[in-house]
Parts: sequence; structure tokens; C-alpha cells
Amino acid sequence: MTTTLAPTPTRAYAATAADAPLTPFAFERRAPGPQDVAMDILYCGVCHSDLHTARNEWRNTLYPSVPGHEIVGRVTAVGDLVTKFKVGDLAGVGCMVDSCQHCAPCDQGEEQYCENGFTGTYNGPMFGGENTFGGYSTHIVVRESFVLHISHDESQLAAVAPLLCAGITTYSPLRQWEAGPGKKVGIVGLGGLGHMGVKIAAAMGAHVVLFTTSASKREDALRLGASEVVVSRNAEEMAAHANSFDFILNTVAAPHDLDAFMALLKLDGTMTLVGAPAEPHPSPNIFGFIMKRRRLAGSLIGGIRETQEMLDFCARHGIVSDIETIDMDTINTAYERMLKSDVKYRFVIDMKSLAAA
Ligand code: NAP
Ligand code: ZN
Repeated sequence: MTTTLAPTPTRAYAATAADAPLTPFAFERRAPGPQDVAMDILYCGVCHSDLHTARNEWRNTLYPSVPGHEIVGRVTAVGDLVTKFKVGDLAGVGCMVDSCQHCAPCDQGEEQYCENGFTGTYNGPMFGGENTFGGYSTHIVVRESFVLHISHDESQLAAVAPLLCAGITTYSPLRQWEAGPGKKVGIVGLGGLGHMGVKIAAAMGAHVVLFTTSASKREDALRLGASEVVVSRNAEEMAAHANSFDFILNTVAAPHDLDAFMALLKLDGTMTLVGAPAEPHPSPNIFGFIMKRRRLAGSLIGGIRETQEMLDFCARHGIVSDIETIDMDTINTAYERMLKSDVKYRFVIDMKSLAAA
């Protein structure tokens, strides 16, 4: 039974230009269609991609821009054809809200590689169509097949939100490159993605080495599950790990020297980049690849099926994000702190602060 067919007036925060702070913004969410789930948003994580987008650093931002793709909330209405969610359920939405559903990657449950361009939760379909507005908002309406079940305890809900992007973006490549017992895995950067990478790789049974530019994060990294910590600006500490890694997951949000990490891979080792800096990295030295048949790869979030698998894996292993909860009106300060690596380790917006404003 459809409980409401009306569009929902929605409060949000939006960027209106690359150099403008985020400010209050109002719009309407569509009336839920037969296959849609409508939710009140309770918490939304703050991903570095939100900042890249709000400031047009990837040069593709449509304004006004409402970021936010680490969304958890409670279902308020479902369309007639919805079978997996009911009113009152907790639910999550990540980086995608739709895809073509008929190309080869979509058929394989890899909607993030949709050949016709998946629809991002914010900043719209990649090819044409209306702009989409993300989770820095009070409500959202999403097609059922892009909504996730949450089985963590409700008291952990705020700390579950970052799993919807930071969790799946690290889980997917760790699975793809078979992190597990007997594997030496490096995680580069202890930010939102990096700290989830450490927790997940450790839970998979790998020997985890965390690389950081911030020596002050050493103790935290060990607490989060790393077996060793390397300060990447210390050449001696780096050299001690030469030719030894099966896999390195690089989450750094700024251009940096990739060769220093490629040299740490053993024969046939792979480094996968998930960090997406606005400017390119310096070109890597080809000999770093040739001499040990090393590989440099990339990875984009994860498919919906795998996102559910990750949420269930994290619930089973007691994994959530380490968070600092903020009010919506402090988002601009949070962005500045994120740029200084001053967040332990993910900001999460309590959407009550917006609903009540
Ligand atoms: P974040 O919380 O800001 O973390 C990035 C970390 O990178 C920092 O904490 C810092 O760690 C390190 N870092 C920053 N500047 C550095 C520099 N100049 N040199 C070396 N290290 C530096 O960001 P995030 O939310 O984890 O996102 C990381 C990147 O992944 C962003 O570019 C984001 O857009 C991208 N992303 C990609 C995907 C995907 O699907 N591929 C999905 C989500 C996000 P230390 O202090 O430990 O050095
Ligand atoms: Zn993200």
C-alpha cells in the first residue's frame, strides 16, 4: 500500500558556486513512485568527494549542489511494488541512486561501471537529465534496488553512515585483490577511507601496514587494526618495506609521488588508487612496473550487491566508522578541517540539526 504520494518539502545545504560556502537551500523530493522508497535522513557522512564537488575541483559540478552520499535514515513511505522495505525500517543510500540496469556491468551487479552512466546520489546523471541532490538534506526518495538494509544496532547508526561510501570504496578493492590471511596489505592515508580500509583489511585477516604523513596518527592506526605504521615522509622507514607488499590501497586525496609506494610492491604486486585528487599525480617511473611486473590500478566505490555484502560483513565483525558528529551549520568549518587532515576519522552530520533549524 502506498502511504503517501505527495512530493516532500526538503531542507538542505547547498553550494551555489565553487568559491561560495554551503548555505541553506529548500527543494521538493519527488512523490514516491511504485518502486520507490522514501526516507527521513537521520545522518549523513562527509566524504572528501563532497568537498571536491562543492568546490568544482573535478570541473563537472552542477549548481546548486547538495552533496552527501553516506546516508542512513528511516523509511517513511514505500511504493506499491516495493517488497524489501517497509515503513519504519532503517535504510542506507550510498553513492548511486540509479543505473541503466541492462548493460553487462549492471547485469553483473557492478552498477558503478554502468556503460550508460550511473546516476550519482548528487551531481546528477553523468549524461544528461536533471541534477540530483544528495544527503545534506532532510529527506530522500530512491528506487528500491539502490536502497540498502542496515543490520547494525540502531545506537550505532551515525557511525554506520560512512560505510555507505568509505566502507564500500575500501571493501571492494580489498576483496578484488584478495586481502586475507598470508597477505601483506598497505593502506595509504589515514582519513575517512583509509581508516575504514585498515579496519576492513584487518578483519579480512591480512597483515596491515598503514602509511601516513601524520606521525601523530601512529597510535590510532595501531588501535584501528594496523600491525605496523610507516611515516611515508621517512625514507628509511619506507626502504625497510621494499619489494614486500602483495597489495597497496592508496586513498590519498592529493597529488603525490607514486613511485615511492610502487617500489614497495613485490613481484606481481598491485597498487590500487581510490583517492581522486583534483590535479594529476607526477608520472610514475615505468621501470618501477617493468622490473617486478607490478601493476597500478584504480577502483570506483562498489556495486549495490557488494555494498550490502560489506554492510553485513561490518555488522558481523562489529565494524563501524570512528566519527565526530557535527551540526549541519558547521559544515564549512568541517571542510576546512578535513583539508588539514584534522578529523578522526569521519565527520557525520546529525540531520536533526537541519530539521530543527
Ligand atoms: P580524507 O578523509 O580527507 O583523507 C585523505 C587522507 O589523505 C588524509 O587524511 C591524509 O592522511 C592523506 N593526505 C592528505 N593530503 C595529503 C598529501 N598532500 N600527501 C599525502 N597524504 C595526504 O578523504 P577521504 O574522504 O578518505 O577521501 C580520499 C580520496 O578518495 C578523495 O580524493 C575522495 O574524493 C576519494 N574517493 C574516491 C572514491 C572512489 O570510488 N574511488 C570514493 C570515495 C572517495 P594522513 O594524514 O594519514 O597522511
Ligand atoms: Zn564518498
